[in-house]
Amino acid sequence: MVGVLAIQGDVAEHCHVLRRLGVEAQEVRQPGDLAGLNGLIIPGGESTTIGRVAHRYGLMELIRALIAQGMPVWGTCAGVILLARSVDRLDFPTLGVLDVHVRRNAFGRQVDSFEIDLAVPALDAIAAAEERGRPVRAVFIRAPIIDRVGENVDILAKLPDGTVVAVQQGHILGTAFHPALTDDTRFHRYFLRLVEEQAFTAAPEATV
Ligand code: GLN
Repeated sequence: MVGVLAIQGDVAEHCHVLRRLGVEAQEVRQPGDLAGLNGLIIPGGESTTIGRVAHRYGLMELIRALIAQGMPVWGTCAGVILLARSVDRLDFPTLGVLDVHVRRNAFGRQVDSFEIDLAVPALDAIAAAEERGRPVRAVFIRAPIIDRVGENVDILAKLPDGTVVAVQQGHILGTAFHPALTDDTRFHRYFLRLVEEQAFTAAPEATV
């Protein structure tokens, strides 16, 4: 069972993709919803709203602890902001589990939102034969960029100018764009493979 942090943003879209892939999706709104999770997705949306509400409900501490215990987590857009070790212009602490620095709303007003084809070779590990080598259509909406990457972090995708937009640090995955907003399920399948490999289950007592 994979959780989707359900405070605001692309919650329904992620749940829809998970269910389409035959995976049980659990919307996470309060601490008790974390029990039994094998992984968690933090969706795109507004990082300040998601983060403030998650703090208020005591979810940040619990999620941080579960990730430290080995729970796979994937943050898309606002989600990668909340995972990052450091972020500019944010007035509350992030989860701080992903060793990157993130710059919010990094593209400026002129190019606020855009779509672009990106090569993501790592996805070939889970791709069907006809998908292999095919670029990912990446949707950026007031997106952040990852402008500093720690040594233990793998870069999965870059924009043509070299800007880092997808990373992985072991069981932690981050994308500055929104794979849930396209029909391409490769990123979800890639995350589900991580979940399978990690074989983690959140204990009920750890989360209430
Ligand atoms: N601009 C948003 C933020 O800073 C992120 C954008 C998104 O998730 N679509 O939280």
